[in-house]
Amino acid sequence: MTEPSEHGDNARDEFQAFLADYVDNAMAGLNERWELAPIDLYDAAPYEVLGGLIARQATLAIELARAPQAWTPNSAPLFLRAMIEVVITIRWIQGDFEARAKKYYLYGLGQHKLQMEHYKARLVDQPDNEELKQMVENGSRWLEAQRREFFTDVDVGAWAGKSVREMARECDSEDLYKFAYAGFSSCVHSTWDHLGMHNSNYCTNPLHKRHRVPMVPDDPPEFDYLYRATKYLHLAYKSFDQFFGLAPTTTMPLRWFSSRTANQEDPTEDSGPDESDPM
Ligand SMILES: [Zn+2]
Repeated sequence: MTEPSEHGDNARDEFQAFLADYVDNAMAGLNERWELAPIDLYDAAPYEVLGGLIARQATLAIELARAPQAWTPNSAPLFLRAMIEVVITIRWIQGDFEARAKKYYLYGLGQHKLQMEHYKARLVDQPDNEELKQMVENGSRWLEAQRREFFTDVDVGAWAGKSVREMARECDSEDLYKFAYAGFSSCVHSTWDHLGMHNSNYCTNPLHKRHRVPMVPDDPPEFDYLYRATKYLHLAYKSFDQFFGLAPTTTMPLRWFSSRTANQEDPTEDSGPDESDPM
């Protein structure tokens, strides 16, 4: 007969193995896609942007997978909302690939340049600050290395010139925006609809007319949050594949996930996951 403690160890080992395999599958999917993507070496920046975006998505999924303590209503949405934005960004860029990818690229350089200007201004006041000097030098070198033939000057407005909502509408991702992205926004922005539920509780003194008191919740990890992250990784990979007409052999994230877990939706490659499925 198996001792309870031994059983616990087995379950833990199994869970750790599951997470390690999860990371391997996400990485294999990323590497294979980058190998298959038809990169134009004479105009590589747009491809680098899409490659960077799927790498970003894989990174977020992997880091969330490695941190089960963060699978809570307070932390997981910080990852998930960013992941939904990556899906919308990929799809919107693909609507006018080269022009929008370059716009995205230049906006990023603009953000970096702006940050450098702040540091430079401070350096004028603190000319002996070696750490600051190093930061400005490294930052300027990075910016110089990113220069491309289409580089003119940097723009510091909203990168797409429109909101995430408008971008979502333009790339047929409105349900993803309405039901998933917007739902996670109260956690990201710490608005009262999140705090009232997760960071405040009723005072236990019956004479106090039920005023609220601050609370730090001790929520147990919910496995469903990893499922959500998997779904957004899946959508990012799928958009990448469809755009370039790729057929990678690495198991798609959601299919891999459902093959290793019980009671999760098992999408066919054709229908894919239900994007409007709210959190
Ligand atoms: Zn009270």
